Amino acid sequence: MVFTDVSEASFAQARVALRKLDAQYGSEAGYMQSVLEDLASRETIICNQCFFENKIEYTEERMQLCSKCRKEIWHTAETFYHKVRLFRPRVVIREIFQQGITISVNQAAELLDVANGTAALVFKQLGIVVSRLNSSNGVQVPTQFCTSVVSRRSTETPAREPPVAEEFELRRKLQEDSKASEVVPEVNLDLNEPQQKLLESLSHEPILFEELSRKTNLEPAELTSQLMFFELNGIAESCPGNKYKLADSLNLAGAFTDPSQLAKAQSIAKTFAYFIKDYFQGVSRKYLQIYASIHRLSVDRKSFPPNSLRKLCAAHSHISYEDILAYVTPPAVLLVAPHHNTS
Ligand SMILES: [Zn+2]
Repeated sequence: MVFTDVSEASFAQARVALRKLDAQYGSEAGYMQSVLEDLASRETIICNQCFFENKIEYTEERMQLCSKCRKEIWHTAETFYHKVRLFRPRVVIREIFQQGITISVNQAAELLDVANGTAALVFKQLGIVVSRLNSSNGVQVPTQFCTSVVSRRSTETPAREPPVAEEFELRRKLQEDSKASEVVPEVNLDLNEPQQKLLESLSHEPILFEELSRKTNLEPAELTSQLMFFELNGIAESCPGNKYKLADSLNLAGAFTDPSQLAKAQSIAKTFAYFIKDYFQGVSRKYLQIYASIHRLSVDRKSFPPNSLRKLCAAHSHISYEDILAYVTPPAVLLVAPHHNTS
């Protein structure tokens, strides 16, 4: 497998981080202890048989007996660490991300001597934990800005279609939903009369230039210049065969009717695309948001002070394999721009 230089450098950093963590925790038992310690901060735990609220006994065991009915109570039950057999891979991947180091699933599997599937599961669980964090600095970017990195098939990819077909399929469904209420989109720009007429003549179905000229009574030269204005402002898109249609981003609840926001979104999407190509080569459309969260861990360092991921995981409920299979990135992903160091 060929990795890029940045990816190789990150992998070397991850190996150093692993040596330090192993020195700190000693062994699998030490890693488990650290997790049990995190979970003990809840103080009490409810027995799922008799519902008695037990005080958590912080011991070296992950299980205690209910003081009322004597049923086994697992400290990890329904938590982020539900039924985890090996704590070391999970804690190490968490801490590598905590430090802002990015590695691929294959590299994590090799580093920790676990199956790719095990490492992939932890990546996705951590990605979901991070994706639920708000960001005042983030931008909702339409997924179609990110299709250049979509290159892996998933359960959502239609048969005999390229991976990116997932995106088209999702957009087709969204358009079907919105078609029932085909209304003129709201645009936060001051439009003059011919521009307003052009806006009303466009729809999400491509329409011929000549047809538009007829509908709007605009001369070809004037129409060309207005369409260019629309394209620059993210209102319209040109299609093959000299056709035009409303931009898909207009489907997304008025996203980017402000040109500066559109430019910002496109620029962040480009940064994200470089990141994915550097570290993962490509991802599936289904998991774009999960990888956007992994990108955030790398660039949005202010949001992840020491031990923050550890605390987030300790407080998070169980994310099952079924939850992950059911996970699909929505039509827009939250992307966070790299911070410029101002201190
Ligand atoms: Zn009980």
